[in-house]
Amino acid sequence: MNSDPKMNSDPRVLIPETMKAMVLEMPGRPLVLKEVPIPAPLAGQVLVKIIACGVCRTDLHIMDSELAHPKLPLIPGHEIVGRVAAVGGSETTWKPGDLVGIPWVGYTCGHCRYCLKKEENLCENALFTGYTLDGGYAEYTVANTDYCFSLDAGYGNPMGAPLLCAGLIGYRSYGMIGPQAERLGIYGFGAAAHILIQVALYQGKKVYAFTRDGDKESQAFAIRLGAIWAGGSSESPPERLDAAIIFAPAGELVPKALKDVDKGASVVCGGIHMSDIPSFAYELLWEERIIRSVANLTRKDGLEFLALAAKVPVKADTQLFRLEQANEALAALRKGEVHGAAVLVM
Ligand SMILES: [Zn+2]
Ligand SMILES: [Zn+2]
Repeated sequence: MNSDPKMNSDPRVLIPETMKAMVLEMPGRPLVLKEVPIPAPLAGQVLVKIIACGVCRTDLHIMDSELAHPKLPLIPGHEIVGRVAAVGGSETTWKPGDLVGIPWVGYTCGHCRYCLKKEENLCENALFTGYTLDGGYAEYTVANTDYCFSLDAGYGNPMGAPLLCAGLIGYRSYGMIGPQAERLGIYGFGAAAHILIQVALYQGKKVYAFTRDGDKESQAFAIRLGAIWAGGSSESPPERLDAAIIFAPAGELVPKALKDVDKGASVVCGGIHMSDIPSFAYELLWEERIIRSVANLTRKDGLEFLALAAKVPVKADTQLFRLEQANEALAALRKGEVHGAAVLVM
């Protein structure tokens, strides 16, 4: 890890020819530590020396083939904090030394019918960091200039990494609940939830945290962060909720959340993948309850969220691993052993 800003301020000084990367050669197999060439930034791209990269459940979905057709071989990771080391072409937005965050959405086309409606999160030709583009489980990466975010100096360290997916997707999900919602249930209290609760409390919401049944540790963590109530996902909250956000990839939580929410409330599914949703009585949806999913992010979401995060200020709870320990970090996430967010440091 190199968090000394002086040492990072001009990474042009030394750009070696090769770098260490954790590479997915085939879904279903562990990542392999490799020495690979450092990519050269093309026009419209920057080369970034990575400080830290978050480990996200989506990385597991890719490794488990729950997301189809990844780039192979692939360097996973889409919650990247780093400093610009070199710029491609006549790039002027960024200069070497700039602190940037690189999120999941790495490219959108700008001309499909979704992009034209300003719904670039649904772009038909989008490319995704750490999935269809190489990502941040490495010492360097290239990124498209227009898809990098400027980060507050306070986030030029591992704490900034989880903001770039867990934070951003959580924020987009939060934007779907309606501004009048006061009592918010969060189902699955991992990386996204522990960031979102800080934003929600800052905006005066009451948060009810649902964890795996019997996971007293996560419940205590939620209470420590300011949840008004925490319990197992099969428990009923003490009051009807105005909205629910589900981060756990468990389909059975959808009918459960519908039972917990009030008339007219939204149940937002914040994950990229979820197990099948069991059938349920229409009565649960009746009275204008809404179920919806959230896909990807727009750059507008990113700018809004990162500004808000710095204001709150959001402090991510991180569990650090070295780059070489990516498989261990993924295993810990799979077993539910990570409190807050797992982050690789380079
Ligand atoms: Zn498009
Ligand atoms: Zn993610």
